[in-house]
Amino acid sequence: MKDNSPKIVLVFIAIALSILVSILISSFIFNLKETFSWNFVAFSFVVSFMTAMVLLVFVNRLVFKKIERILQHVKDFRAHGDTSITDVDYSKNEINNLDEEIMAWANDRKNEIERLKKLEVYRKEFLGNVSHELKTPIFNIQGYVLTLLDGGLEDASINRNYLQRAEKSVDRMIAIIDDLEAISQLETGELQIEPERFDITALIKDVLDAQELKATARGIILTMTGEPKPLYVLADKFRIRQVIVNLIVNSVKYGKEYGETKVRIYDVGENISVEISDNGIGIASEHLPRLFERFYRADKSRSREQGGTGLGLAIVKHIIEAHNQTINVMSTEGAGTVFSFTLKKA
Ligand code: ADP
Repeated sequence: MKDNSPKIVLVFIAIALSILVSILISSFIFNLKETFSWNFVAFSFVVSFMTAMVLLVFVNRLVFKKIERILQHVKDFRAHGDTSITDVDYSKNEINNLDEEIMAWANDRKNEIERLKKLEVYRKEFLGNVSHELKTPIFNIQGYVLTLLDGGLEDASINRNYLQRAEKSVDRMIAIIDDLEAISQLETGELQIEPERFDITALIKDVLDAQELKATARGIILTMTGEPKPLYVLADKFRIRQVIVNLIVNSVKYGKEYGETKVRIYDVGENISVEISDNGIGIASEHLPRLFERFYRADKSRSREQGGTGLGLAIVKHIIEAHNQTINVMSTEGAGTVFSFTLKKA
């Protein structure tokens, strides 16, 4: 019954009503004239059935045609070019179809509104974070400039020192703005990945050499374990260098003094996996799920003291995901951290 068209149901009701009406009329005439005629029963059935059918045609015109039109509108509205929605196989019950389509549409709207609400919260949080991050270096610069203007400029013991500190704050602002620009370009798809075939082992060695000075300043040894043989991948070399630099720099920033950062490459079928591990401060498990969010810091004071923008890991994740690959983190507080990401072999 649920899948039958209400028109068929109405035809049955019309037949039943016509039978009932003809019986009632015949019995009324029988009581009146005390004669019974089958012809009269048949005649009254035909007349009442025809009347019901005429009514049905009007109902069809007035109601069902409109229902079909509304159904089509709702369907088009929901679809927005999504053929999986336009190709839906409907049952014969127009009213049920309309009901289901409207429920699905309401559900879509509800999800869409929830998504927009989340985006709005995210946008507000993001703006708050950006202004908070920029405020500190701006206020610092303002303080140094005011002191210099108030006579500090003539004081040889502070003038150069304050200018150098102001420059440091300018550098910090530039780092934040550069990272923000990179994130927004990656998110809007403006920054396209340009894959090429290159040797990932050579790239890692290159980055390790470039970061050696920073690492030795904290007594940290950077090593590449296993036999370093050439391994070719298909990826955006410039962006992957950015990923490796970020992870190595973090391992030094948050690593233990006189500790060690190890890089390992694993061959995993179609992909290779790069693992960067340190034996530093580690990250408490409650921070791990949010670690790749913008401005999220597990150790706020150390991050700021080291000049971190809190955007590095968000950029790293964007770059790896733009390659359709994955990045993971495992960490034990006080023992160390392991970041690993995959790349497609070439
Ligand atoms: P930041 O600029 O603060 O370093 P990131 O996005 O690079 O920002 O990292 C986010 C946070 O993750 C850092 O503030 C730090 O608390 C934590 N973190 C990242 N790498 C490590 C690591 N190797 N060891 C411990 N904590 C880390």
